[in-house]
Amino acid sequence: MKCKSAFAALLTLACLGLACAPVAARSTGPRRHESIDSVVIHSTGGPTCDVRTGKPVWIKAGTLADDMRVIEAHPKLGIHYMIDRDGTLRRSVPEDQIAHHVFGYSARSIAIELVNDGDGMDVFPAAQIDALVTLLRDIARRRGILREGVQRHSDLDHGLLSCDRTQRRKVDPGAAFPFEAVLDAVFPAKIGGLGLSQQ
Ligand SMILES: [Zn+2]
Repeated sequence: MKCKSAFAALLTLACLGLACAPVAARSTGPRRHESIDSVVIHSTGGPTCDVRTGKPVWIKAGTLADDMRVIEAHPKLGIHYMIDRDGTLRRSVPEDQIAHHVFGYSARSIAIELVNDGDGMDVFPAAQIDALVTLLRDIARRRGILREGVQRHSDLDHGLLSCDRTQRRKVDPGAAFPFEAVLDAVFPAKIGGLGLSQQ
């Protein structure tokens, strides 16, 4: 089986030898041993190294259905949620199980993928952002996640592309993602803003 999906090439371990062998769809992960303190926002598109040319290429967003199929067929990587451009939300790995989605932080974080090129030019439609805000509010309430606990993949992985050491390998969700506006919508400023509490 060839890795036909562009998204497959973006997954770090995909398309390397046996990783391309067909496997059954999988939407489970290892049990968590650390508590959840963060949510990481990704986009399905981004830079990677072309396995044939050895040169950097930009992988486009793909479709929700294809991207879900690819990630659930991946032997190791996973996500908890994916949100399409029209706001359609899909669940994959349950929150109380680990999805491997970001180097070093997967054990304590929840992964949300947004269908977007991640190139800083592909606009995130309002319906997609609204669905993300609704999901983040729900997770924050249930899990006690703070504003600083919501992070972008690019905030956590500063590694460089193996085929071009002048480029970062993870820049998603990219400059077009309205990060501060999303945080403001999920975590409204307290009235008064002085941080005073009633005694
Ligand atoms: Zn990512």
